[in-house]
Amino acid sequence: MALLDVENLTIDIPTEAGLLHAVGGVSFSLDRGETLAIVGESGSGKSLTSLAIMDLLPGRAIRRATRLSFDGIDLAATSDRQMEDLRGDRIAMIFQEPMTSLNPAYTIGDQLTEALRRHRKVSRTEARDRAVHLLERVGITAAASRLGQYPHQLSGGLRQRVMIAMGLMCEPDLIIADEPTTALDVTIQAQILRLLRDIQREFGMALILVTHDLGVVARVADKVAVMYAGRLVETGTTRAVFGAPSHPYTRGLLRSIPVPGRTAPGEPLGTIPGQVPSLIGNVSGCAFRNRCDLAVEACAGAIPDVALAPGHSMACILEPSLARPQ
Ligand code: ADP
Ligand code: MG
Repeated sequence: MALLDVENLTIDIPTEAGLLHAVGGVSFSLDRGETLAIVGESGSGKSLTSLAIMDLLPGRAIRRATRLSFDGIDLAATSDRQMEDLRGDRIAMIFQEPMTSLNPAYTIGDQLTEALRRHRKVSRTEARDRAVHLLERVGITAAASRLGQYPHQLSGGLRQRVMIAMGLMCEPDLIIADEPTTALDVTIQAQILRLLRDIQREFGMALILVTHDLGVVARVADKVAVMYAGRLVETGTTRAVFGAPSHPYTRGLLRSIPVPGRTAPGEPLGTIPGQVPSLIGNVSGCAFRNRCDLAVEACAGAIPDVALAPGHSMACILEPSLARPQ
């Protein structure tokens, strides 16, 4: 049984302009210890998909799914109380901006130990020892002396490390990291991602890594889900998606990653021209068709999921051999 099973997840948000179909028919599954990267441009529905798993969507959002299960627990049928028990204990989330989840009014020590003491029967000393151990593990020096500090006394990089340590306090089965390094400078980004990967392997946790950086994915993920305008356009093992990128959008994204040694620093990346269409009201056909070189009339119709190889599929009507680069 998969640790996480998401089938046909749909998220609609009522707005003044009409119903926003933010996420439509998203399906994926994740085994224990596996890393899935969800990639796509800003606004493609990555964060909402993550929040839907945690049951932390904005209040107005309407979530539907034919299956949403975590370790056999039906997340669509859990009470708020049960969900609170799961959050932070068995499923943890690391947000893009640490200040959204670190409370400025409490010390780092209080926040780290609180996460553990809420879910486990442990003494204050045990909780404190674990906090120090994990702060050291995430590369924070003089960890014990950090416990009395407040979030604003730490740099952005340190705060992000504290967030990771906090996520690990209860040894969750699943960590969802939503663009965990976007706010940091490039050297620190690389350190934090390496750290996440090492810890994920050491603790055997499953990891969902949300990112718009395809370069990161190749190094960290077992599987990739490429998201565009609220839909998964291509999914597969990292090897399959990078080795034989098939959906025109995936290929556009891959063309736009910098190549170390070949792309000069500061050189503009090859971007995909055009804009994501509005997802308000009636949405039909492939949402990428207005930006796709290969679009034909039938792209306005229903788009099936096509299996390209075992565990590799795309939502595109093109013949896979045509979609693939020659
Ligand atoms: P991503 O994380 O991929 O950048 P999001 O999941 O944040 O994208 O957003 C997907 C879409 O849903 C976007 O069009 C965004 O504007 C919209 N959206 C997200 N949150 C809200 C909200 N609280 N109210 C209205 N629209 C929202
Ligand atoms: Mg986001």
